Amino acid sequence: MATIGFIGLGNMGGPMATNLVKAGHTVQVFDLSKEAVQRLESAGATGCASAAEAATGVAIVVTMLPAGRHVRELYLGEGGLLATAAKGTLLVDSSTIDADTARAVAAEAEQAGCPMIDAPVSGGVAGAEAGKLIFMVGGDTAPVEQARPILDVMGRAVFHAGPAGAGQVAKMCNNMLLAISMIGTSEAINLGIAEGLDPKALSDIMQQSSGGNWVLNGYNPHPDVMDGTPASRGYTGGFGTALMLKDLGLAMDAALKDGKATPLGALARNIYTLHDAAGNGHKDFSSVIQFLQNGGSTP
Ligand code: NAD
Repeated sequence: MATIGFIGLGNMGGPMATNLVKAGHTVQVFDLSKEAVQRLESAGATGCASAAEAATGVAIVVTMLPAGRHVRELYLGEGGLLATAAKGTLLVDSSTIDADTARAVAAEAEQAGCPMIDAPVSGGVAGAEAGKLIFMVGGDTAPVEQARPILDVMGRAVFHAGPAGAGQVAKMCNNMLLAISMIGTSEAINLGIAEGLDPKALSDIMQQSSGGNWVLNGYNPHPDVMDGTPASRGYTGGFGTALMLKDLGLAMDAALKDGKATPLGALARNIYTLHDAAGNGHKDFSSVIQFLQNGGSTP
């Protein structure tokens, strides 16, 4: 069993760290939110007063933060992890961030004597709770293999996508596709309802038919079609619209840099931008179905 530092205990990091505790690892945790730290203490982790404390005396540090600037600050900022972690500590960043930041922080980590991998995830909060995330990993083979037993506790598959930053590239492409399929699925359900169909009956049909997709399989955007989805609990506790918008921004930045046309990705970013601007940044991204239903205004 390993001693692990875990920093960032939000919707995803909280259940991921809990699963490490449940598997018998010693887990030292830190989050800016005291309540989040207390939740993990109740689950059996050791609460710490700072990120540096959580990263002291551990073999591995896992971070699960909102965006690239948080990762940069935590690792490279004054008194940050690279200045305080012992040489040889394996660093695993599971946040979804831009590949350039992932590459830059990994290069600095190597200079500091700490191997680092980017290991963003797919599977949502339900996947995090069930220990069934998909890890998309970038980095050298040795640290990836060293991290694998820990990632296996939190996930059901670990894909080594390539060198540093490659995990983030895979994640960015995946989430652009997810954003588009959530909008497409929402449009189809809204149209069916307008034509008199029951949203659950229509969803069941499409799930088994050629329109079937991940959203229909487990993340239906309409309330009360599926138990346990954010839609069935007021669009709380899932993947925030603001976070999806961040990911679409990463994809658009990359498309611009690479000179690639991503017309549906660009449209999706615009739709989520309007949804966010209407005050829905904190709601799960599946709430875009309401935005599309109400012509821009939200209930
Ligand atoms: P969240 O906002 O619920 O949690 C982020 C946590 O990080 C918060 O508790 C915050 O207090 C903490 N934090 C921020 N800066 C910190 C710092 N310097 N030190 C310590 N703690 C700090 O976000 P989330 O939904 O858990 O997502 C985390 C990451 O995972 C994001 O990059 C997101 O894009 C990605 N992701 C989310 C989902 C999802 O379904 N929610 C799915 C896949 C990937």
